[in-house]
Amino acid sequence: MKVLRCKDVGVDCDFEAHGKTVDEVLKKAKVHAKDHGIKRVTEDYLKSWRKLIRNE
Ligand SMILES: [Zn+2]
Repeated sequence: MKVLRCKDVGVDCDFEAHGKTVDEVLKKAKVHAKDHGIKRVTEDYLKSWRKLIRNE
């Protein structure tokens, strides 16, 4: 499983996006980003998130 932790992004939040693939994780992260007021997830966000995804 792959995981992206909100904490790793630098946000004080316990959310973790899990998935079998990077795309799956990013999809969940995109939805969750709305909770942090990010209405439009740009390519820059995706690029930085991709680097923070870890294997579990
Ligand atoms: Zn969060």
